This record gives sequence, structure tokens and C-alpha cells, in this order.
Amino acid sequence: MPLTILFAAPSLWDEYRDHLPAALREAGLEANVVLDADPARVDYVIYAPSAPLQDFTPFTRTKAVLSLWAGVERIVGNETLTQPLCRMVDPGLTEGMVEWVVGHSLRHHLGMDRHIVNPDHIWDPTCPPLARERPVTILGLGALGAAAAQALTALNFPVTGWSRTPKQIGGLRCHSGQDGLQAALTGAHIVITLLPRTPETENILNATSLGWLGRGAVILNPGRGALIDDKALLAALNTGQVGHATLDVFRTEPLPPDHPFWSHPKVTVTPHIAADTRAVTAARVVAENIRRSETGAPLLHLVDRARGY
Ligand code: NAP
Repeated sequence: MPLTILFAAPSLWDEYRDHLPAALREAGLEANVVLDADPARVDYVIYAPSAPLQDFTPFTRTKAVLSLWAGVERIVGNETLTQPLCRMVDPGLTEGMVEWVVGHSLRHHLGMDRHIVNPDHIWDPTCPPLARERPVTILGLGALGAAAAQALTALNFPVTGWSRTPKQIGGLRCHSGQDGLQAALTGAHIVITLLPRTPETENILNATSLGWLGRGAVILNPGRGALIDDKALLAALNTGQVGHATLDVFRTEPLPPDHPFWSHPKVTVTPHIAADTRAVTAARVVAENIRRSETGAPLLHLVDRARGY
């Protein structure tokens, strides 16, 4: 009997309509992927936070809900969702995030803006330091933070990482837990936030923690808007404690037109484009997880409801 897989993210169907059936076939699964079904007959739900589906109660035989998004803060608290919930760890998404992080890190490290926008034709021969002289701190050493750390380490940046649980990652100085945050941030020139949004990580960059950074440090936030206390960031930009912030994610998206980030000369806004899930690779991740579930193997990228990510 073929599996019934509900694709509950209709706005994304065009991207997945070819890749998903192909990936399921490659995984050796016989399945019907449908956009609508009797919930009581659905084996798996493929989900995105933008999906209209909010009540999972009638999905009585559903074995897992597979999110197409890496961040699950909009769904993790849904009390009707009692089925196992998997988040997306997609090689294509990771590749995109690494490119965004490396690109924006190099922009600031090399001081590219001075030469790209130079209306007064100023000849300033100051050479930027080498990457090895520019300490970078990455908050979050999960799928994305660890990959970004590796790429920056390969360019010789001295990278410090911070996570909830202790880690040992070759080439990195690692700190963990609330007690390790100050050590991770002290003296950093570039700070990259790749944490999930949870009650513990909200406003992790605030007036106190921004004060630990090296003066003029640059913040790159491709994680979630709520990781940063917006007012504290604006104050730190105005005093020069923070030299620039490149922000991809915001508490309200789209960023409201009158938000001070749009007009602040030391803020770059990118519209939540740091890393998209790529259908071709994500479809394979979904198919592999369904294959695992069907063969009794543990699901990959299972969300821990208590931790919130
Ligand atoms: P992940 O694999 O779950 O990694 C999360 C990392 O954060 C882990 O290292 C975890 O520590 C750490 N962490 C969580 N809570 C913490 C706490 N209280 N204190 C210290 N460290 C904590 O997630 P991911 O796949 O790397 O994704 C990270 C985030 O990126 C997502 O949640 C999402 O918000 C964001 N994102 C943004 C975009 C975009 O386009 N802008 C795209 C995709 C994802 P442990 O390792 O100890 O568990």
C-alpha cells in the first residue's frame, strides 16, 4: 500500500512537485504526494510555518511532521502537534548560509565599502589586517554555525564558537553555556549569530553582552531577529561600540518601512535571504527521513520540544 504524504506547504509546491516524487522513488518508497487528504489517512506531513495547517489533532496515524524550515519557533509550541517533528538540515541551505556569512564577513574585514562608495575619490592606502588578526565569534555551533566556522577557519580567521552543550571542533576555541558567553564574546571583531530563537536565546545580544565585544565590532545576524535587543544595538551603533550590523532577520518581517534599521548608516538590511531551503537537496532529506521511519531507524533532525529547537 503506497504511503500518503501530505504536502502542507501549498505555496512551495511548484518547487517540489518534481523533486519530491523523484527523491521518494530514489529512496525506494512507494508514495502518493497529495496537497489535500483525509487527515486520518496521512502517513507523513511535509510542513512550512507559512502553511494554513495549524491543527494536527485529526492526523491520528501520521508518523512524523517534516518541516522544510530550519527554524521551528513558530511550530514547536503547537500543542496539537504531538507527532515527532523534524526540522530541516539541508546541504543546499547550509551551502547558502556559508556563502552569506563568508561574503559579509569579508566585506567588513576588507573594508570594501570604503572603496565601493568613494564619492570624494579619497586615495586611502591603508591596508586591511590579515584574517588571522581578526577574531570572529559564532554564537551557535549547530548545522549552520559549525559549517560557517569551518569556512572562516579555512580563511585563517581565529574563530571562537559558543553553544549550549560543550563541543570540541578542530581549529575552534569553543565555549558553552551562560557561563561561557562572556569569554566567547570578549574582544570579538565579528560576531555571527546562528542560534535558534528560544526563551533562552532571546536578546542574547543586549547592552551588557554588546559591551564585551571589541570596540567597533561588526554584527552579522542571519539567525533570528529576537536574538538581538534592537534598542541596545542602535545605542551601541550610535556610540561606536558596534561599528556595523548586517541583519537578515527581524522581529517583524518584512521589516516595517519606518523601522530605524532601514535608515541607519551603520546597518545593512538583507530581506531574510541568507539561506533558503533548496528543493532539490531538501527533497532528498525528507525522503531519507521517511525511509528511516519506515525501516525503524531513528529520525534525523528531531526537534526537542523541551529545548525548543
Ligand atoms: P541547530 O543545528 O539546531 O544549531 C543550533 C545551535 O545553537 C546549537 O549549537 C545549539 O547548541 C545552540 N544553542 C541553542 N540554544 C542555545 C543556548 N541557550 N545557549 C547556547 N547555545 C545554544 O540549528 P541550525 O540548523 O544551525 O540553524 C540555526 C538557526 O539559523 C535556525 O534556528 C534559524 O533560526 C536560523 N536560520 C536562518 C536562515 C536565514 O535564511 N536567515 C536560514 C536557516 C536557518 P547545542 O549544539 O549545544 O545544542
